[in-house]
Amino acid sequence: MIKFTYRYKIKPTKQLFKQFDQYLDICRSVYNYGHSERKAWLESRKSKIDRCSIVSEYIIAADAAFPSYKNQAKALTEAKKKFPHLKLVNAQCLQQVLKRLDKAWTDFFKVPERGFPRFRSKNRFRSFIFPQLGKNCLDIGRVKLPSIGWIGIRQSRDYPTGFTPKQFQIVRRATGYHLMIVFQSSEVVPEPIPGKISLGLDAGIKSFVATSFEELIKSPKFLRSKLRKLKLLQRRLKKKTKGSNNWLKLQNKIAKFNEKVANTRRDWLFKLAHYLCEQADNIFVEDINFKSWSRGLFALSSLDSGIGGFINEILPFVCWKRGRFYLKVDKNFTSQECSNCGQRTGKKTLNQRLHICQFCNHTESRDTNSAKIIMQRGQRAVGHTVQEKRDNAVLDGAFKHLNLVQVSAPWLSPMSDCRKKACRDGLTGA
Ligand SMILES: [Zn+2]
Repeated sequence: MIKFTYRYKIKPTKQLFKQFDQYLDICRSVYNYGHSERKAWLESRKSKIDRCSIVSEYIIAADAAFPSYKNQAKALTEAKKKFPHLKLVNAQCLQQVLKRLDKAWTDFFKVPERGFPRFRSKNRFRSFIFPQLGKNCLDIGRVKLPSIGWIGIRQSRDYPTGFTPKQFQIVRRATGYHLMIVFQSSEVVPEPIPGKISLGLDAGIKSFVATSFEELIKSPKFLRSKLRKLKLLQRRLKKKTKGSNNWLKLQNKIAKFNEKVANTRRDWLFKLAHYLCEQADNIFVEDINFKSWSRGLFALSSLDSGIGGFINEILPFVCWKRGRFYLKVDKNFTSQECSNCGQRTGKKTLNQRLHICQFCNHTESRDTNSAKIIMQRGQRAVGHTVQEKRDNAVLDGAFKHLNLVQVSAPWLSPMSDCRKKACRDGLTGA
């Protein structure tokens, strides 16, 4: 089964957006009420049955059942009689809200590090879902939402053929409302099998990625170059009264700015993924926990470039889409081994950018060396013999670069172009 998510911008009309705002408000109130119910139940069970809590708490009967999804969904149907405004929202949308709450709770008990679920403010509640759609709900330039009717969208790309729409999600962003459509096909696509040409990738600090074809691809640094403008805006925000009209306007401006940067970055990453996929049949990367990475020393540079999302989400998706084999290999000692003779050359400090082997005198950029090690490990993993020299080069002269020459690749198009093509690929997430 294949699933795609396509994103479209909804054509703004005052009345429609007002309706969406109302939807969000009602959904949020249901979420928060459900959360308070669960929380009260949990807290009433804190102290032993013959004691009282020092802090005041609701007293809930000992035999009262936990407000689970099932119980809450039942209560919701009852509540609609009492509070008719709940009927303004599609019934399935509200059920989805309760499901979302249920998921937040079960996730917390499974992985406590995620944090206890919290009440949602307007800023933390931005979307609602239509889980079931009517027949023929797609048309060129418009879609039909259950219980709302036809709405106009900006048809930035065609709907995929051979897929059925399964779910609509309306998301509020700084630039307005967006529609996410989940397309599904029951066809079974075989997983890509390893091919002939292999490419190893090493995520670097100085360069965004280094390839085993001796190419160092520069980090885009979108945010950093725009940081000055962002700082200026944030400084101005400080001077405004919190919650005032001007404060809100500026806040919105900052949000739009951030969204633009995110779109540009995403577009760049997708182009990079396609560019890499053009070069090889197998793509090997190292298995790094980027979350802990971005918290540490490399916080700004690694978050700015979005390397984690690239290696873990975008690249595997593009590889799958284009039938390339993708594999993560062991990350240990990639910077210490020599790609020429395979010996361990010992630890390198961070500012040591060159790999110089004391056994075979092989000299190479540190990142490219690691990329080659990753490629060799990947080849071993899929049962290929390791190629000593790169006899598999498919690159033309333009991409054969010497060590330590940083290149900016030709697909790096100017900003205006990036903006136009942003979010062209069907992958969810910001
Ligand atoms: Zn060596």
